[in-house]
Parts: sequence; structure tokens; C-alpha cells
Amino acid sequence: MFPRLIIDREKLYHNACLIKNLCGKHGIEVVAVTKGYCALKGVIDVIVSAGIEKLADSRMLNIKRMRYYGIKNHIMLIRIPMLSEISDVVRYVDSVLVSEMVVLKAISEECLRQKKEIDAFIMVDVGDLREGLMPKDVSGFINEAKDLKGVNIAGIATNVGCIGGIMPDKNNIALLIEAADRAESILGRRLSVISGGSTCTLKLIDDDEMPERVNQLRIGEAILFGINDVCGRDIPGTYKDVFTLEAEVVEVKRKPSKPLGEVGFDAFGEVPHFEDRGIRKRAILALGRQDVIIDSIKPRYAGMTIVGASSDHLILDVEDYEGTIEVGDVIPFDVTYGGLLSASTSPYVEKVIR
Ligand SMILES: *Cc1c(COP(=O)(O)O)cnc(C)c1O
Repeated sequence: MFPRLIIDREKLYHNACLIKNLCGKHGIEVVAVTKGYCALKGVIDVIVSAGIEKLADSRMLNIKRMRYYGIKNHIMLIRIPMLSEISDVVRYVDSVLVSEMVVLKAISEECLRQKKEIDAFIMVDVGDLREGLMPKDVSGFINEAKDLKGVNIAGIATNVGCIGGIMPDKNNIALLIEAADRAESILGRRLSVISGGSTCTLKLIDDDEMPERVNQLRIGEAILFGINDVCGRDIPGTYKDVFTLEAEVVEVKRKPSKPLGEVGFDAFGEVPHFEDRGIRKRAILALGRQDVIIDSIKPRYAGMTIVGASSDHLILDVEDYEGTIEVGDVIPFDVTYGGLLSASTSPYVEKVIR
């Protein structure tokens, strides 16, 4: 069935081993983040077989599906939880990121109700300004949290490179370590985990600035794409083409490049603009915005460019493509992280691991 997302098992395995070893050399445990591929079981199996044991996802629906498929590994919930999902959190999750006292208390109460204990990581915002306590508020929070039952304050965590696009550096990571120090002096014990961030925090290894106390990273992109998009860095030795999106050609014709007639709005309410490049050879593919974010895919072959797409049709200019192209041909695309996320989420895209 097309469109389909092809996942290369061997390349994925190679990347997972390489990232695990890279972090391992610095005493850092890798938690594999599964949200980019909606926690697809086949992908998780490959990553776990590379020796990465802990998993993390942002969605309870994905986590429940993992449990349903029999995955027994440690699972972390990496989106700070909704109050309305706390009973599922306690039931299915082993560790959770928390930034609100009302949520931590609800988790504690639910743990007592279910007679379970789960680990909580206190989120500290070191400047990206998404979730987390401002560093000055950590002491007060820990003071209030320290006597809660059921929930174990296992560590401190942060996230950078998401909303604010702030990159990790030795200054902001120092804020995290200081927060951990303060938390430890209040708790009177050492925290077992300092979770230093996501793929972009690998930059600190690269720059030889990773503090010794950071002993965990939550990593999706580096394993899946071999790059660090936030910092625009390549991770040497990794494959960049683990994923391929394939779509089928349903029409090939030579047509003018500028639409004929009066211009109104396109299917998505925008006024389209097309340059007049004369008569061009165009292929229509059975692929559209209901399958993938079109801006996050790129034809793998030279001489092909995306002209536009509606919900179900993608127009590809193939005038400069050197091969032949016919109805029924299958065209491969590279996908970015956003492309993977959207294609994985679409029920119209078949997923194939091979
Ligand atoms: C998505 C996410 C990650 C993983 O990010 P990558 O860039 O894929 O490595 C880690 N932590 C949190 C809180 C996230 O939301």
C-alpha cells in the first residue's frame, strides 16, 4: 500500500548502538524517546536490541499501547502530565517529569491508592522557557515535596532547544547542577539521576563541556536521524536515511507552470503564487497533507522539486529529472523529524520495517 514509510532496521540498529556507546563513554544512560514514530513496536524492538533499555514518550496513548504489546521496559512520561491522566500515569509509567506541586501531590495520592511507587523528576527551566521551575524556586518546591508518600524524588531534569531554541551550554547546564545540589542538601541524600536534556545536549559532549553529574539524556532525533537539528550538527558515523517515505505516481503530463485564469484562494485558504517557468513536466503523486507535513519531506532524487500539495495530491516538477517517470512509479522522499512525526501519526501511511 502507498504511501508508505520504510524503516531500515540495520541502519536504525547501527545508530542506536553508536549513540548508546557515545553516551556510555561519558557515564550517560540513554533513554530512547519514542514519540517521533508514535512508539511503533517494531522500531522499539530494534532500539532495545541495541541495548537501550529505558523508553520515554510524551503521550499516554502511546505508553498504554506499548504496555498492551507486552513491553515491560522502564517507561518515562516526558510531557508533564495532565491532572486528568494521573491514574493512568501511576498505572503504566515508571518515571514522570513534574513541574507543578498540585500534580506531584495528585501523583502521590494516586500512588497510595494504587499501592505503587513511581519516580518523579523535578523539571527545571534553565532558559528555554517551556516547562519547569525557575531555578530560584527549586528549594521551596523540594521542601514541600520531600515528605510526600508514594512518589520518589529520583532526580532533576531539564529541557532545552525546544520552544525558545536555546542551545545547551556550560552556563545553563550549570544551573541544573546547582539546582540538584540544593535539592540534595534539602533531601539529605544524593539524587540518583540528573537528566540533562535531549539530542541537542549531545553538543556538550562534542564540546567537552558535559558536567560529570549529568548521567542521563532522553534521546530521539540523534538515534533516528543521526543529526542534531537544533545545533545543526552531524553526528559522525550515523546514517541519516533510516526513514524513507514512498509515494506512487498517478499522472504525468507537461503543463504550464503558472495556473491559468483568475487567482483566488487555494484549498487551504492561502493565495498561491507560482512563477512562470514555461511548460514543465509534472508528476502527480497520491500523497498529500493528510499523510505528511509537506514542508518536511524532500525528493531523494536530483531534478525533482515539490511544486505544491493539497490534501491528497502532491505535484512534483520532474522536468530536470534525468530518468524516466511513468504512472505507477514509486518516488522516494527523505523525511525530517517533523515529517516522521506526521507520517507516523497518519493512518493513511503504511509503516514497513525491513
Ligand atoms: C521530545 C523530547 C525529548 C527528545 O528530544 P529529541 O530532540 O528527539 O532528542 C526529550 N525530552 C523531552 C521532554 C521531550 O519532549
